[in-house]
Amino acid sequence: MTAPADKDSAKPSNFLRQIIERDLEQGHYAQRRWSGQPGDAAAQQAGAPDPARIRTRFPPEPNGYLHVGHAKSICLNFGLARDYGGVCHMRFDDTNPEKEEQEYVDGILDAVRWLGFSWEANGSSHLYQASDYFDFMYRAAEHLVSQGLAYVDEQTPEQMRANRGDFSRPGVDSPFRNRTPQENLVRLRQMRDGQLADGAAVLRAKIDMASPNINLRDPALYRIKHAEHHATGTRWCIYPMYTFAHPIEDALENITHSICTLEFEDQRPFYDWLLDRLREGGLINTPQPRQYEFARLNLTYVVTSKRKLKQLVDEKHVSGWDDPRMPTVVGLRRRGYTPESLQLFAERIGVTKAQGWIDFSTLEIALRDDLDAKAGRAMAVIEPVRLVIDNWDAVMGEGHLEPCVAPVHPHHPERGQRALTFGKSLWIERGDFEETPPKGYNRLFPGNKVRLKYGYVIECTGCDKDASGQVTTVHAQLIEGTKSGTPGADSVKAKGVITWVGASDAVAAEVRLYDRLFSVPQPDTGERDFLEEINPASLSVAQAWVEPSLAKSAPDQKFQFERHGYFVADRKDHAPGRLVFNRTTGLKDSWGK
Ligand code: ATP
Ligand code: MG
Repeated sequence: MTAPADKDSAKPSNFLRQIIERDLEQGHYAQRRWSGQPGDAAAQQAGAPDPARIRTRFPPEPNGYLHVGHAKSICLNFGLARDYGGVCHMRFDDTNPEKEEQEYVDGILDAVRWLGFSWEANGSSHLYQASDYFDFMYRAAEHLVSQGLAYVDEQTPEQMRANRGDFSRPGVDSPFRNRTPQENLVRLRQMRDGQLADGAAVLRAKIDMASPNINLRDPALYRIKHAEHHATGTRWCIYPMYTFAHPIEDALENITHSICTLEFEDQRPFYDWLLDRLREGGLINTPQPRQYEFARLNLTYVVTSKRKLKQLVDEKHVSGWDDPRMPTVVGLRRRGYTPESLQLFAERIGVTKAQGWIDFSTLEIALRDDLDAKAGRAMAVIEPVRLVIDNWDAVMGEGHLEPCVAPVHPHHPERGQRALTFGKSLWIERGDFEETPPKGYNRLFPGNKVRLKYGYVIECTGCDKDASGQVTTVHAQLIEGTKSGTPGADSVKAKGVITWVGASDAVAAEVRLYDRLFSVPQPDTGERDFLEEINPASLSVAQAWVEPSLAKSAPDQKFQFERHGYFVADRKDHAPGRLVFNRTTGLKDSWGK
């Protein structure tokens, strides 16, 4: 897929917007009440009319840093709430009693805020954690048991798996399936009270072991796990399954549109089954939430699975979660991406129900479209070779230094000018000189005239080389009267224009040239292990000379290095006296041959 060319068009509609607009038109959620916090039917009914016209949520598990796929989901959920007078809840899905990593919680909140969204609305904070709902979840479980809608199964995990059947074979009823509600209640309480060992029993919904949808073949609701939970400690030794917990979390939070990725489509019948039963029992507020699925983001040349990203970090294939090659929000940020570029990207790719791949270039195009207007220009010589103007002293005077100026931004004169210093000795790109030029080459070669941008036209006369044949100095003659911006500057025609920095005032900088982390578009889908597809040349470090205006640049500041592309001052390592720039992305059009 490619991005639409028109970046200013109004937000395109999509199937989710249509659903929301229809629901709002029909006043489907107009009568809902909200107590000001998550709660059951009674609590919500006692509240005021819900000030939020819709409620969506972003519910990550705090087990890693967010990636570009999560960014899509964040832009979608928070964006829909913003556009339709709603609220998006920030919810940590921490129902797994795994070690809580405060680092991940903080990282996730930072990422959402940085992307430009907030869970503060109508004077309150909609930051929730699913473990706060354990009491209600257990109450819901007892309710199902009492209604004959759930039972404690004590088959072994192997038996359970075998008896579930498969696509071609219906399941087989568990011998425990016909226990009475009273028996089940006793057993469930024993589970809760720690009288059974891990894996000895599970609570299952009693639906239909022959359902063509395997998710409806008596799905597990609770499992025994004698484990400490970061928030609830040892209070519980049974924990709800995701498929049971998630609909309840949505219901308690008054979520209207629960948006998830397509993998959960087969779970929707259970989502509805469960909430229908809890609504009938008067446990949850009405109208109940509905689940809608969209196609997850698959982006070429990266992996978007927290597990695999964690592996890249743990095995030190990258320097950390925020390595500028990582498709994590922190990685993209350090690479020089802006929140606006990610929002633009999310808008352009839209939401559909059709699985597909988005080319990484779509992300880069959104970035360039955002940075072009914002990033100040600068000159940097990344692979330097010395240029000496041999007639400089004779023409300009011994040791003369000539001030030159360049606009900070070509379309924004109000942003001012950068000061450059031209002199006898300059730095130019090694690739801008060829002793024997290939066909069509119009930069420096003996006898050719070239303009040094914002400076003068020069004529190349030759070069010096070291013993190995490597060029050490390029020589040229100044053509008088050609200084950019002076009358008659264009009287001498030069085919090529090259960038430069003055040896007298250039500042040394480390430039980190990042390329794609993987060599193949879909490192994750082939036969080979994704680690084998890592691009060995995804990072090279250059010692560059940059123009003096960059000496005062701040971490995170973005630039377009003329001819080279977009660069950002590294958030971690850049400091006065030690300049470090990351290449964010190249320019769309590479300069002349
Ligand atoms: P991962 O597989 O990377 O661990 P996940 O879905 O398990 O991702 P969660 O923390 O559960 O991670 O995700 C939070 C939300 O982000 C979910 O609602 C999920 O639908 C959404 N999400 C995750 N990955 C993508 C993706 N690639 N594209 C769009 N949305 C995504
Ligand atoms: Mg997950």
